[in-house]
Amino acid sequence: MKRKFVLGMIMLGVLALLSYGYSSRTVHAQSERSQAAGPPEIIPHRLNERGADNYSLTTGGTTPTSPILYHGGPLINTPTVYIVWYGNWNQGNGSDTPTGQQIVRDFVNAVGGSPYFNINTSYSTNGYVVTGGVNNGGETSDAYSRGTRLKDADILTIINAKINASQLPYDANGVYFVLTSSDVNEQSGFCRLYCGWHTAGTATAGHVRYSFVGNANRCLSGCAAQTTSPNSNAGVDGMISVIAHELEEATTDPDPRSGWADSGGAENADKCAWTFGHAQYQVGNGSWANMTLGSRNFLIQRNLFHNLIGPNGLGDYCMVNATQN
Ligand SMILES: [Zn+2]
Repeated sequence: MKRKFVLGMIMLGVLALLSYGYSSRTVHAQSERSQAAGPPEIIPHRLNERGADNYSLTTGGTTPTSPILYHGGPLINTPTVYIVWYGNWNQGNGSDTPTGQQIVRDFVNAVGGSPYFNINTSYSTNGYVVTGGVNNGGETSDAYSRGTRLKDADILTIINAKINASQLPYDANGVYFVLTSSDVNEQSGFCRLYCGWHTAGTATAGHVRYSFVGNANRCLSGCAAQTTSPNSNAGVDGMISVIAHELEEATTDPDPRSGWADSGGAENADKCAWTFGHAQYQVGNGSWANMTLGSRNFLIQRNLFHNLIGPNGLGDYCMVNATQN
């Protein structure tokens, strides 16, 4: 996993690679410098290596992971999610659709305060209380302002333009998501090296935390756990797990690796990626889910509960809530 991670980072430039190799303390200093000048560090979500469907029953382990560590930097108490619907979300392909958008909205509106997102309260420190809440800050759309082949830097450009045009507010506690329709590529490795990523950077209005997640319908075998899904949109249901992953990492490590990350650079959700726990159930169409948020069923990867008295003693465990692994 580490080796694959480094391979991904090579694609993202020498600076990011150097940052990765530093000790955790140096990473913090590097991160602070890069906020002022230079490109941001990008934290990819690794790809589903086993392919679609083979992973739908992946429960994952019940023993503690290697420890996750706090590096002294800021956390977000309660993130506010802003969405840019990039590309065309009104297509006839059954996935890039208004119904698909509503699945994402319903997730954002329901995830805050859920037993799942409350796992992140275990990352509260003396200086920062992670509440487990999530606010929905609203959304806007972008019809291909940067074309169909995006570069990493385009994601911040897109968000900056939306803030400057007052289509989204500037929010220091925001996490800005650019969600692309499945005809859009992110050339640094979407569907090849990652399914999404988050980082921090400098917009005209100030410091921003932001994320790219593409519609997994572009590569269900890589970025979705199953091809028939709880909300009958495998691409968007695949995105939901990635959005959850990036949101919980952006909350507990908003300026990458200055917050919570392990000695190898893995953030909380990285340590549990593509594992869905032991509370899975089948819904009417035969697909698998592991939690209900609001009125919908979802299959969302586990997250790391820090410092839990778990089934095998005190440690950091991949969980779907405080009691279920
Ligand atoms: Zn991650």
